[in-house]
Amino acid sequence: MIRPRKVFGQHWLKSEKALDAIIKAAECTQGDRSDKGDRVLEIGPGTGILTRRLLPLVQSLVAVEIDRDLCELLAKQLGKTENFLLLQGDFLTLDLPSHLAAFPNFQKPNKVVANIPYNITGPIIEKLLGTIANPNPEPFDSIVLLVQKEVAERLYAKPGSRTFGALSVRVQYLAQCELICTVPAAAFQPPPKVDSAVVRLRPQKREIPALEPRRFENFLKLGFGAKRKMLRNNLQSVVERDRLTHLLEQLEINPQSRAEDLSVQQWVTLVNELGVGSRE
Ligand code: SAH
Repeated sequence: MIRPRKVFGQHWLKSEKALDAIIKAAECTQGDRSDKGDRVLEIGPGTGILTRRLLPLVQSLVAVEIDRDLCELLAKQLGKTENFLLLQGDFLTLDLPSHLAAFPNFQKPNKVVANIPYNITGPIIEKLLGTIANPNPEPFDSIVLLVQKEVAERLYAKPGSRTFGALSVRVQYLAQCELICTVPAAAFQPPPKVDSAVVRLRPQKREIPALEPRRFENFLKLGFGAKRKMLRNNLQSVVERDRLTHLLEQLEINPQSRAEDLSVQQWVTLVNELGVGSRE
């Protein structure tokens, strides 16, 4: 077994059960001549445990791994596999389309399946989905990720729950999020300090988008700023309390609501309606 490097967040997944759950959630098809199969992107293939399982199930697999030594090993073991392309580099800065341009057999991936390094979960999700102001213009069909359980809980949290926060709104604005299963720390070698979970994100277009996305993000930041405070207090600096109370009533939202009580759609409507005459 390759010795894991802490700096790259390396924890090798060893649980068959977790691997099965990830594979099942990805719903991959190989396709045939008439039917286009799935082109999968894997971030951080590591020693290739997930990679090897995915390869026979997909049309093609592009993996991005930062660790040169691992890349060498993977290239030795899987380099001859026709539908596999390994790119060495930092996923966060790598320009995938320009790399793929050199490999006509590898089209743009339509799915992501990965057990990612937890220290860069936020930036990875942002690169995959984009932001509210700049959504990924070519969204993936689905994204299956193994993440820290605590982050997973925020991703699929429902409004009104303890874990529903600004991250929940930002991500759920861009994608439907669901929990596939939880994965105990003991499923990895070495075990991380925290438990994990498999989540599936399905990017979606919002029927009613935020009219001014940057403003929307700013309101989210302020609204969720001071925890457990009413929205009208947290937003005091940008909208008069009376005006907000009135608008919340009009939208049939309890004026004493906190940021975490509003659904994503309610958030969008509220900020869109506040468009005129607020004091930013
Ligand atoms: N998928 C493997 C490894 C998971 S550990 C398994 O399930 O066993 C996370 C992997 O991501 C490691 O291989 C690590 O080297 C790699 N990694 C860390 N930072 C990365 C980055 N910025 N870009 C690409 N890969 C990265």
